Amino acid sequence: MLYPNEVIEDVRTGNDIVSVIASYVPLKQKGVNLFGLCPFHQERTPSFSVSADKQMYYCFGCGAGGNVLTFIIQIEHMNFVDALKFLADRIHYVLPDGENSEEAARQARLREALYALQKKAARFFYDCLLSPEGKAAAAYLDSRRVSIKTRVKYGLGYAPGGRALVEFLRKEGFADELLGLSGLLIPDKRGGYYDRFTGRLMFPILDPAGRVVGFGGRVIGGDGSKYINSSDTPIFDKSRNLYGIHLAKKSKSAELILVEGYMDVISLYQAGFPQAVAALGTAFSQNHAQAVKKHRDGAVVLFDSDEAGTKAALRAIPFLVNAGLTIRVTQVADAKDPDEYIKSFGADAFAGLLAMAKSHTIFQIEQLNKQLNLGILTDRVKFTSEAAKLIARNENAIERDAYIKEVAGVTGISPEAIAMETEKAMSRPVRAPRVRVTETWRGKADKGAIDAKRGLIYLAAADPKISAALKNALKPEEFGDGVYPKLFSIINSMREESKECIPAALISAFEDLEEQKQVSAVFARAEEYPDKTSKAKAINEMFKVLKRSYIDDKIPAADINQLNELVKMKRNVDKLYISI
Ligand SMILES: [Zn+2]
Repeated sequence: MLYPNEVIEDVRTGNDIVSVIASYVPLKQKGVNLFGLCPFHQERTPSFSVSADKQMYYCFGCGAGGNVLTFIIQIEHMNFVDALKFLADRIHYVLPDGENSEEAARQARLREALYALQKKAARFFYDCLLSPEGKAAAAYLDSRRVSIKTRVKYGLGYAPGGRALVEFLRKEGFADELLGLSGLLIPDKRGGYYDRFTGRLMFPILDPAGRVVGFGGRVIGGDGSKYINSSDTPIFDKSRNLYGIHLAKKSKSAELILVEGYMDVISLYQAGFPQAVAALGTAFSQNHAQAVKKHRDGAVVLFDSDEAGTKAALRAIPFLVNAGLTIRVTQVADAKDPDEYIKSFGADAFAGLLAMAKSHTIFQIEQLNKQLNLGILTDRVKFTSEAAKLIARNENAIERDAYIKEVAGVTGISPEAIAMETEKAMSRPVRAPRVRVTETWRGKADKGAIDAKRGLIYLAAADPKISAALKNALKPEEFGDGVYPKLFSIINSMREESKECIPAALISAFEDLEEQKQVSAVFARAEEYPDKTSKAKAINEMFKVLKRSYIDDKIPAADINQLNELVKMKRNVDKLYISI
């Protein structure tokens, strides 16, 4: 982290979360919390809560949550440091020169070195494509009619593999430590490295600033997966980076085009559509959607016309809509992908296809129609009610009306009846608060144990006496996986320094947004007990659940001696008691 904790806490505590969020989202007091419509997912009934006491927010609909810094990161699409600067400015707080701190300087040097390494590697691959070794890859590009100009524009290359890249990078003077972090090499058994990419056509992946951050490689003649990527590094994140974004963002188009593959991006560029981007062979994620939103307010989804492509489009749409993008969808007819389409029918036909892209709602309704047999009454009814739900998500009444007529047309069901279904779907309250559990569990997901962990941590943060009692009775590792053991340790060490454990400060101890969400979920609850006895009883119940689950988790890997020990321990759990 770039700035010392005290500075981050100064900025955080100086910015009251309620006044910050209220400038983005209208909030209304409801009980101890304030509520509003969540800015991170589409909803009609407020499930987004803000707590002044805890200085945190939490959405019971989508699970978004965190402290005031998390909020700015999410809503302004900023990184941590920019969000910190943004909030420091807001309260006229002068940040120390963070760039000078030792750790910051080290991180910055590492990133700079990685950029330099990726650039050299790109140059190496590029040269290999022009060398005799790259002949087969060049022939492949010829067959796909990729012009020389386009090859240069996208810096396409060829990876001969073996140890060619390792040796090249060593000769260029890159230290072993950096080689290990490059995402391009794989450690061998003798403490050295070999190339991750062998016999592959190479696509350098550039960030929006135009720096090479990683690579995708398509197999040429050899074996292995058709496409592989660099592994993630401090400058490369597959779930975030978009192929082609450095050129697409400069295009004049108001919308980006989302396609599935590297070759689609390249082929579209060559046909005069520089606004195309692709996820890097990974499933399209919320982060990708946010990366699109940073550059445009709208996008056309153009995935392959096969079943897999249609499924991928249906999966991507909710992320894109959640990010606040206006989404249209189109599919190529009589071709398997955009590349093939342009080759068969030309750029003008493709422009027509783009112009005819439909709203995502119509696309979703059409797909629904394909899955059902509208000749059957039950399917017709199911179709109508599912379509009504999709229509209900549209804010615009005129659009909704148009969709209702469309559905009425295909089903023969009266528009009035569909409109009523839509109304019903719109007024339906958000589903009961549900917290997404993303931790991985050995064995089955144990909801009781999660509740116990959350309950105990919540109470430990609220009351020094309880945290003292729990500290004596539980080791952090007994809290299992995820954020819980770390949270418990942090609370214990904050108590040692007699600090108050404000949820927002605990959230700050986690850098990862997903982890911050999980921490927020812990504190979004309200634990209230009528008296001390019932509180003590609840604590002891949760404590026992936790102990048992810790023991259960150990059983699958235990040998017979350990097993006997575990069984004895489990029997003893009943006798344990913590007094508060
Ligand atoms: Zn939400």
